[in-house]
Amino acid sequence: NVKKSLTELDQRHFIHPTSSIKQQQEHGPAFIFTEGDGIYLKDNNGRELIDAMSSLWNVNIGYGRKELGKAAQQQMDTLAFSSAFSTFSHEPAIRLSEKLAELAPDGLNAVFLTSGGSESNDSAFKLARHYWKLRDQPERKKIISRQRAYHGVSSGSTSATGIPQFWEMAGLLSTDFIHADTPYELGTAQAIASIRNLIENEGPETIAAFVAEPVQGAGGIIIPPDDYFQEIRKLCDEYGILFIADEVITGFGRTGTMFGLEHWGVVPDMMTLAKGITSGYIPQGGVMVSDEIHETLKEKSEGTLFHGFTYSGHPTACAVALKNIEIIENENLVENSKEMGDEMLNGFRSIKDKIDIIGNVRSLGLLGAVELVEDPSTNKRFSPSLKVAPRVVEILAERGMICRSVTYDSTDIITFAPPLIINKEQIDNMIEILYDSILEVRREKNI
Ligand code: PLP
Repeated sequence: NVKKSLTELDQRHFIHPTSSIKQQQEHGPAFIFTEGDGIYLKDNNGRELIDAMSSLWNVNIGYGRKELGKAAQQQMDTLAFSSAFSTFSHEPAIRLSEKLAELAPDGLNAVFLTSGGSESNDSAFKLARHYWKLRDQPERKKIISRQRAYHGVSSGSTSATGIPQFWEMAGLLSTDFIHADTPYELGTAQAIASIRNLIENEGPETIAAFVAEPVQGAGGIIIPPDDYFQEIRKLCDEYGILFIADEVITGFGRTGTMFGLEHWGVVPDMMTLAKGITSGYIPQGGVMVSDEIHETLKEKSEGTLFHGFTYSGHPTACAVALKNIEIIENENLVENSKEMGDEMLNGFRSIKDKIDIIGNVRSLGLLGAVELVEDPSTNKRFSPSLKVAPRVVEILAERGMICRSVTYDSTDIITFAPPLIINKEQIDNMIEILYDSILEVRREKNI
């Protein structure tokens, strides 16, 4: 039968990204998805699930939007691909660059296009070091990121990632990456003081850039205190360090504003993008740079910018991105993300009142988390051996909803990032499934 043969073929030939290879070999894939519609995914057994993670925080407009396929086909029929290297250009890349400049905060008007988040971050790190070389400060090489950060898996972005499991495979391939404290469970003053110390100890004149996700995603949905990013901006200005915002998850409406840093009125020097830029319908990413960086590149570069991917500015990907952004704007999905995000947070709060193993609950737009703890009054965590959050995620899937658990550093965090098209009834349904699933695990584990 088809299911059996697909499972066997999967085990034999398909090395999954970020996977438990052992589990895959023992059990095969948990789901083989065949269709998507709105917030729902369907598998090859006909099971329908709410995708409360928008796949990998990226399917912002939801599944099954035929307009994107049409935009891709139209572009493929005329010019599927031609390179944007050097002096070559084409209209889809030009139009997308113009659109991104219109959407980005004032002062960020130029973009280097890539095919994803890791490429965008590595490009940003290289551009930062290149910028300082052009400014005659070649010793500024170090990149400061934060613990619990996730910036991707290419050489620089793995090194910037602050979740040490990602370094196990091959160590840090890049040099001069340092990790500061995250604001998780710290106030602004303490978090900023620790970064200041780090800068002073390393020598400010050796630091090229500071990189941060406006809300840490894979690290467990860490929403910073309200004045945190304003203080970060001040600190970077004080020491002349470039501030790179990794908006790969938080971009394109995820947190209820077009870009995450808008919540705090802070403008970075560079902004990396991917995921929601095409809602995952095709790979695409980019690095937006400040006018100051762009001017420096233009005025001081003497030769070639020796950095570019074959698919930088892929015409079909650009056409799909433009159509996706048009849908986000025309359907007011940024506003919907804010409104439904508030509903989701209210839902989390209502079940927190009823279940005594729910600790902190939070959400910024439709990027939220529920923490499970042994004692909410002290935030005492469960023993990791109980695997509380992973079990809740299994039960959630059995009951028809895909979520993710973050267990790094002995936490039990369940994360949520549903498509931005979600409505109130669907949010209520999510909360109901969550409530039942947590109670089931509580009973099952007697916790
Ligand atoms: N930055 C952030 C904040 C991410 O969450 C991710 C992916 O999850 C990346 C970068 C890496 O993006 P990609 O997987 O497209 O390379």
